[in-house]
Amino acid sequence: MRQSQRLIPTLKESPADADVASHRLMLRAGLIRQVASGLYSWLPLGLRVIRKLETIIREELEASGAQEVLMPIVQPAELWQETGRWSKMGPEMLRMKDRHDRDFCLGPTHEEVITDIFRREIHSYRQLPCNFYQIQTKFRDEIRPRFGVMRAREFTMKDGYSFHADQACFDATYQEMYDCYGRILQRMALNFRAVEADTGNIGGANSHEFHVLAESGEDLIAYAPSGDYAANLEKAAAASPAERQAAREALEKVATPNQTSIEDVAAYLKVPESRCLKTLIVQGASELEARDDQPVQEEASPRLVAMVLRGDHELNLIKAQKLPGVANPLRLADDGDIQAATGCKPGSIGPLGLQIPTYVDRDAAAVADFVCGANEEGVHYRGANWVRDQPLTEAAIVDIRNVVSGDAAPDGSGDLQFLRGIEVGHIFQLGTVYSEPMQAKVLDENGRSVTPIMGCYGMGVTRLVAAIIEQNHDEVGIIWPEPVAPYLVHIVALNYGKSDAVRQAADRLYDVLRERNLEVLLDDRDERPGVKFADADLIGIPHRITIGDRGLKEDKIENLTRMSDKTETLPLDEVVNRLVG
Ligand code: ATP
Ligand code: MG
Repeated sequence: MRQSQRLIPTLKESPADADVASHRLMLRAGLIRQVASGLYSWLPLGLRVIRKLETIIREELEASGAQEVLMPIVQPAELWQETGRWSKMGPEMLRMKDRHDRDFCLGPTHEEVITDIFRREIHSYRQLPCNFYQIQTKFRDEIRPRFGVMRAREFTMKDGYSFHADQACFDATYQEMYDCYGRILQRMALNFRAVEADTGNIGGANSHEFHVLAESGEDLIAYAPSGDYAANLEKAAAASPAERQAAREALEKVATPNQTSIEDVAAYLKVPESRCLKTLIVQGASELEARDDQPVQEEASPRLVAMVLRGDHELNLIKAQKLPGVANPLRLADDGDIQAATGCKPGSIGPLGLQIPTYVDRDAAAVADFVCGANEEGVHYRGANWVRDQPLTEAAIVDIRNVVSGDAAPDGSGDLQFLRGIEVGHIFQLGTVYSEPMQAKVLDENGRSVTPIMGCYGMGVTRLVAAIIEQNHDEVGIIWPEPVAPYLVHIVALNYGKSDAVRQAADRLYDVLRERNLEVLLDDRDERPGVKFADADLIGIPHRITIGDRGLKEDKIENLTRMSDKTETLPLDEVVNRLVG
């Protein structure tokens, strides 16, 4: 039996809900099939690509000194309670009970499990550094699974974890992993960019994401075209604003009937939006911190926090929800609660005299003679000034806005612009956020007990398949780069069922290519040539060798290279040499 295209179920029509090109093409070319929302089966063609990516990842990681392990998908609650994440994780973590009524989860990530292995097995600095990785299924009950395997609920991740006795050792490994990720993505022929990133649920101080650049990417990357700076919008910061000018205008109240949006107020008062400050009210952190043995308790009257921004700037949720006293995840306050606390509706609120703890964005703190709500319906202040009209402490001044195109990069490397990216990798400087609570310890050179410093390194294997297709397709199908292609050669045998000459030539070529270790797929279906060619375009294997009676008679075999769309004809005996060479 030969590897036949009969087992690759291609589709002529795109499923209606497949909203990005890679998802459409993965379904049509028969790489995947959906089982339920966010759950996919991988068919032969798709699985071969996964295996290619895994091989590249393994080769590069092993060359960097990482060692492979395999941890269970099902994890006991006790480990997650030790780090406090059992209660922090929220509904993204799928929880369940076993027959003894014990709590478990499907692992969304594996920091707790690896740290548990570490603390049991490794006790001396002499065993450090160590760097373990696995390629394993993860489950995250994503609120909005979409774009097929790009944001699935079950997916394959390469996750790695390193442990170090001191910071210098950690820094060296982090850099090594950073470089290793670059080599992996280069070998996959991807156009990518490494950017500074937020650390999210995983925690720790700093992190970098690796983004495959694509219009369909869910993430926005701010970068300086003329310099080095690049960061996910979630994290990106602009350079500090210039010092605030001295007050020139007198404070006055002005009537602004029915003007509630910044746009309306700015137009009505003929002041640029950048000099109108807006005040958003969000929920404060609950005083009773969630504890693992106790559900979060509702307080009688909710705490509120005010956030002041320039009218032309947007609040950055990720930055805001990290501030002390602010609910995480960030939640906007109800209109009713706002009215109870301030006596007026959200559209008229301003920082002057506001009796709510207030954070002021750096750029809003740098504005003089501003317009803002007067905490009275239909009234605004103009000529308002910090310090003179409202005290402003250093601690209240924070960076809580999204950067915008044209902002200066914080490192002086030029003005920021935006690109869209697909996050395929994320590496984290964890410090001791897991080793400390889980009491992992090693003895250092002087016999002292120290807490190891950790790093963690994630890469989305199944998401990478989609990302590669996003960067490598045209209107008729996928265009696999050779290093990641499911097969190298596609033999399209015309009239295979009826013509002995075609069947013999195709089978012989297939066997010879296999002997030479080239991966080859044979189209031996009883389909019309047009159908076969369309499917070959769709599947996108790098080399298409067409064998038909007419060509055989003249000993002119057609070799089409999908990437360059170039065709050459050559004698059958030459085909093998051409493909091997
Ligand atoms: P995202 O921001 O896209 O939700 P994340 O930051 O939560 O991802 P990490 O915890 O950093 O993800 O996971 C490491 C890698 O795993 C990501 O860079 C991504 O490539 C992959 N990944 C994460 N979530 C998914 C998912 N739902 N489906 C497929 N791959 C995923
Ligand atoms: Mg991430």
